[in-house]
Amino acid sequence: MQASNVINLHLHELYPSAKQAYQTTTEVDAGMTNISSEPYWWAAAPPQDFEMDSWPTRADVVIIGGGYTGFGAAIPLARAGLDVVILERDQIGSGASTRNGGITSGNLRVSLDKLTKKFGKEKATAFYREGKTAREDLFDFIKAEKIECDLQNCGRLVGALRPDSFESMKRAAEKLNVFLNIKTKVFERADLPDYIDTSRYCGGILRDDIGGIHPAKLLNGMCKIALAESVKISTQTKVLSVSKTNQTSTTSDFRVETSRGLISAGHVISATNAYTDKGQPWLRRRLVPVISEMIATKELGENMVRSLMPGLNMYSEALELGHYYRPSPDGKRILLGGRRMSPDPTKARDRLISGLTSIFPQLSGVSISNHWFGFVAFPFDQLPKLAVHDGVIYPAGFCGSGTVWARWLGQKAAHMVLDDLQDSVFQGVPFRTMPFYSGDPWFLPLAMNFYAIQDKFKTTTK
Ligand SMILES: Cc1cc2nc3c(=O)[nH]c(=O)nc-3n(C[C@H](O)[C@H](O)[C@H](O)COP(=O)(O)OP(=O)(O)OC[C@H]3O[C@@H](n4cnc5c(N)ncnc54)[C@H](O)[C@@H]3O)c2cc1C
Repeated sequence: MQASNVINLHLHELYPSAKQAYQTTTEVDAGMTNISSEPYWWAAAPPQDFEMDSWPTRADVVIIGGGYTGFGAAIPLARAGLDVVILERDQIGSGASTRNGGITSGNLRVSLDKLTKKFGKEKATAFYREGKTAREDLFDFIKAEKIECDLQNCGRLVGALRPDSFESMKRAAEKLNVFLNIKTKVFERADLPDYIDTSRYCGGILRDDIGGIHPAKLLNGMCKIALAESVKISTQTKVLSVSKTNQTSTTSDFRVETSRGLISAGHVISATNAYTDKGQPWLRRRLVPVISEMIATKELGENMVRSLMPGLNMYSEALELGHYYRPSPDGKRILLGGRRMSPDPTKARDRLISGLTSIFPQLSGVSISNHWFGFVAFPFDQLPKLAVHDGVIYPAGFCGSGTVWARWLGQKAAHMVLDDLQDSVFQGVPFRTMPFYSGDPWFLPLAMNFYAIQDKFKTTTK
């Protein structure tokens, strides 16, 4: 990326409020002929509307937002016999849960070493251990519930662009092995062609415990289960405010004001994450919404995809702003994503295409079928959260790794309501904001600049 591009980013164009960008989702790529601005995934599992038979005046639990977090919470609550209502501002599947790459990473952006310095060795390891459990739990859930979401236990390969970052990846992998018994395989450059046909990387590390899903089919499956468990869902229903009515009462504690009317609730779980609007100012001040976007190629054919990605794995790069990519579940296309670096959708799309061809020069001139974007949420300390404020439970801030974390921490939020002692190490971790921050991340271009410069050093051969 050129330095001038980085510096010329226009803040409000690039990072409009979540609400504005949400509304322009289908317009952003207008004018690009034959390239759909809808997620590739929506062809098989489009977003859906649901209406309740009648507007309920009360629920045991109101959940705001119908993504993995919301359904992750709703299913165990309904199974425990509670009356659960999900309120969704748009359609079920409009948010990040149907826009993502479907890589079940369950990553933490903060390294084990940094977490150890901050929390001590025991707690640091507990964060990573919970990630491992959460990932396994997602796989078990999909299998047990027989959700048809193209689950692939295929492993994820991370490519290193420089020998020194390869060495530090090896050290980190060794720690995962020692502390958490997570098996990794190290590939020197000569061995990489068995997994990926590229000369971009000097080595790579494969983790067997990470795989792939069709993200929209997963959400669809979760939604079906919730409906079967009598969860009530109301789409096109925007929550405008949440307030406590009675500090002492055990029922009807919250007053939830929505675009369709009032509802009172014993508990409220906020599952709006990166799409949080001004109706939830406390959460909005604590999350930085960042645009992540993807392209899908037109059909390349199974032979071509297999020749480029013989391992048919999930893939990513050891860079701050590196790309993540994968074959489509049918093995005929390649999907690639990254962070948005330009306010101009054409340039943003071209950056992704150039990312794709820098990995696979064989794809020079490739046609793209879809280019779409969504938001991912970062807390300031880049650690996922399971917080409580004024009685509302907030699972949030999955830093672009929510296919695992969102459902898991949504589920943990349900267990907090049920008070059944299924604790999480994320409970009680401070959820801080910054002075003068209200949810519009004016500083993001600077941060992106900073990361782009860091990446420049990581891609220069030593
Ligand atoms: C392009 C892209 C690629 C990604 N790739 C990956 C990946 O490969 N692997 C991975 O692990 N993660 C990935 N992620 C991240 C992952 O998708 C998210 O972390 C996860 O889906 C978050 O789920 P959620 O339920 O918390 O939020 P969402 O699915 O975003 O749902 C939030 C919902 O809240 C609703 N809402 C907001 N405000 C209100 C209101 N006032 N009233 C009612 N409803 C409201 C929104 O309409 C939205 O539907 C990616 C994300 C994007 C955008």
